This record gives sequence, C-alpha cells and structure tokens, in this order.
Amino acid sequence: MMEFELSQNHKQVLELVKWLAKEKLRPLGLECDKKEEPIPPDHPFFKEIKQMGIEIGVMGSDDVKSESRLKSFIGESKEPPMIATLSILAAEILAWGDQGVFMSFPGPGLASPPIRLMATPEQKKIFFDTFKGDEPKWGAFGLTEPGAGSDVARIRTSAKKDGKYYILNGEKMYITNGARAEWVVVFATVDPKLGRAGHRAFLVRKGTPGFKVSRIEKKMGLHASETAGLLFEDCAVHEDFLLGGEDYYKSKEGFKGAMETLNMTRPAVGAMAIGIARAAYEHTRDYFAENYMLNAVSPFAVKIKAELERMKRKLDIARLICVRAAWLMDMKKPNAREASQAKAYAPPIALDVITRCLELLGEEGTLEYHHIVNKAYRDIKVFDIFEGTGQVQRIVISKRLFASKGKPVEWGEN
Ligand SMILES: Cc1cc2nc3c(=O)[nH]c(=O)nc-3n(C[C@H](O)[C@H](O)[C@H](O)COP(=O)(O)OP(=O)(O)OC[C@H]3O[C@@H](n4cnc5c(N)ncnc54)[C@H](O)[C@@H]3O)c2cc1C
Repeated sequence: MMEFELSQNHKQVLELVKWLAKEKLRPLGLECDKKEEPIPPDHPFFKEIKQMGIEIGVMGSDDVKSESRLKSFIGESKEPPMIATLSILAAEILAWGDQGVFMSFPGPGLASPPIRLMATPEQKKIFFDTFKGDEPKWGAFGLTEPGAGSDVARIRTSAKKDGKYYILNGEKMYITNGARAEWVVVFATVDPKLGRAGHRAFLVRKGTPGFKVSRIEKKMGLHASETAGLLFEDCAVHEDFLLGGEDYYKSKEGFKGAMETLNMTRPAVGAMAIGIARAAYEHTRDYFAENYMLNAVSPFAVKIKAELERMKRKLDIARLICVRAAWLMDMKKPNAREASQAKAYAPPIALDVITRCLELLGEEGTLEYHHIVNKAYRDIKVFDIFEGTGQVQRIVISKRLFASKGKPVEWGEN
C-alpha cells in the first residue's frame, strides 16, 4: 500500500497545527529573534498551549492511554493511525511557524523517548505524572558534553556507586530546555574504558543538590529556544532513578533500543528543516508576485520563475524522502537507512533554498521587511549538526550500502 492522500481526520489535525503555527508561533518567534532571547518559562503562551492540550513528548506514558489520547485527536479508524507520518507533517508546519518556539513547547520533550523505551513502570509514572497539572513543565535530554557530541562513546560524566546512590560528576552542554526542565535524562559512565557498555542513564530532578545550570548559550539562530550548559558536582542520585534499573544494563540491547528512537526523530528533523525553508521560499515567491509582473514575457520574469520552480522542486523531493522514512516506520518496517537519508538530505537542501532566496532578494534580503528570510538563514545551519551531523549520517548510510563481507546490498533489499 502506498497512499499520498491524507484522511479527513488527519487533514483536520494539520489545519489546527497550521493555525497555531501562523497565529502564535510565527509572531512570537520573530519577537524572540529581535530580542535574541529565549521565551521566558512564565510566558503566557506556554499556559495557553498547555490548556489546548498541546505538549511535546506526552505520548507513551503508557501505551493504552497514549493510544486513546491519540484517537481522541485523530478519531477512530480501521486504517493504521500513521502516527509517524502525521507527526512529521505537523513538525514541518510548526517549524514553518517558528522552529525555536516549537522546540520550547512544554512537555517531556526529548526526554520522552528514552523514558518510554528504558524506564521501569514506577519511573514512567513518576516522570509522566509531573506533566499532568495545569502548569507548563519541561523535560530535557542530557547527552552531549564538551568533547563528546557525535561520538557519544566518549562521554566522561562519571557515575560512581556509593551505597544506594550514584554520585554524578561532569558537564553537559547544548541541552535544549535544560535550565527550565523539571527532569533531565542524564547519560553518564560507570567506567570510560567500557565505552557504551559503561553508559548509564539517570533521571535527575531540578533542585537536586549538586545539579546546577552553568550557562544559557547565545546562539546565531533559534533564539526562542533555550539551550543550556549543566553542571554535576557530587550530585547524589538514588538508585531508584537509574533508568530501567540495574538489570536493564546487563544486556547490550538497552542502548541499542534507545538509539532506535533516532529512526523516528531524524526524519522529523529533516521535515523541520523543510518547514523553515518553505517559510523563506513562500515569502520570496509572494514578494516577487506582488512587486513584479511575473506574467510578463521578460527575461527577468522567466529567470525568477525558473528559480522559484527549482526551489519548490527541491523542497518537494526532500519532503518525500522524509515522508518515506516515516511511512516505513508506520508500516513497522526497518527504516534506519531512510531515516539517515532524510536527515542527511533535507537540511542542506533547505540551506541551499534559503541562500537562493536571499540571493534573489539581493541586499534587500538583509532588511527588516524580509526578516523571515534572514532569520531562516540563521536558524537553518544547526539542522546539519544536531541529531547526528551530516557527516555522521553519511557514515551510517554508507555502512548500510554493504552487507557482511563488503557485498553490496541489492536494489530493493534493505
Ligand atoms: C541548538 C542545539 C540544541 C541541542 N540540543 C541538545 C540536547 O537537547 N541534548 C543533547 O544531548 N545535545 C544537544 N545538542 C548537541 C548536538 O547533538 C551536538 O552538537 C551534535 O551531536 C554534534 O556534536 P558536537 O557539537 O560536539 O560536534 P562534533 O561531534 O565535535 O563534530 C564536529 C565536526 O566533526 C565532524 N565529525 C565528527 N565525527 C566525525 C566522524 N567520525 N567522521 C567524519 N566527521 C566527523 C562532525 O560532522 C562535525 O562537522 C544540541 C545542539 C544544538 C546546536
């Protein structure tokens, strides 16, 4: 089955997302970009969307509740719910509104996938219950360290067992929503010599003695989103908050499972990049349509329309690659290569399209009137960096081009 038509219910969900992106995310994102500051945690916007029932990463507190929650959004149907496909289409629209605001949505956020995959039922309950009240709350995912970004095997935050506690020491950086998070999933090592086998993940609550926010990063783009450095100095975490419990780490499958969440998030990151580029493309298209006679038979009109056509074609192809990766996930088929292809392909295409928009607008493109385009130019670069850099994706993809003993994988085989 290959289906490009969305169900009526999916269309309704996406219409709501479109409204939210246009009316709320876009103006707030432009405001934060001008101020070069993240949205403060007590901003009324967060309460407003919380009241609308919108949070990031709420799915999965337990499977039955998650499914009924989703069905209440998209309605009952005999067809597969197509959660992954719907999610990436929604992600594109929200990023079109403003990616920085989207990343600052309250909810478990990036902490949700490891909790869902690794946590014990008790840990899941404590964690997800935090997000049930009326107040907006955040979760965060703390993996990256100075010297350990792409190569996570190099993390040096240490976890030393002392009675019923693990004592954490180390530093995390670039942690999205890290300073405002109620809980951070912190990755540490019990022995750096063991590489990934020595890794452990902990649920660390805000206010735990020894857990500090060291700084809020100043970034070139995505200003609405807060990115924090975190410090752990003799931070004692009870063994009950070792994610999954001791037994979990006896098998090697644990972290492999956690890494599989990337097969969902990578196409979504690709789709977000397309959303940002689409915002720049549409602004540029409308500007030329309103200010120049594009229907005239003139070399100028032909050139501009050809440029716009090229941009649109590139964005459409990139979107298809992302949707394919998500569709495979919905069909419960392997999608690791396709997920990495989506992440490797879409962000450079988005950067290319935005750069071309700025070139077409000329020096005018740097002015206030074209703020959305010059902001997109600053927001987009990071998409080739987080969630696995472009180079790392290419390594993942090239490994999957060859089966064991270097035999090329044939067309149609995965
Ligand atoms: C806005 C923002 C938000 C973020 N949010 C989070 C978060 O919430 N939680 C979190 O844990 N992290 C987060 N990160 C960190 C992000 O995941 C890392 O920046 C990313 O993994 C890259 O790591 P690095 O910056 O240390 O770069 P490095 O890994 O040092 O890479 C530097 C360069 O070397 C290249 N390179 C590295 N290894 C190889 C290789 N083997 N072969 C070829 N080239 C290679 C890379 O492609 C890159 O070009 C965030 C980052 C940003 C910018």
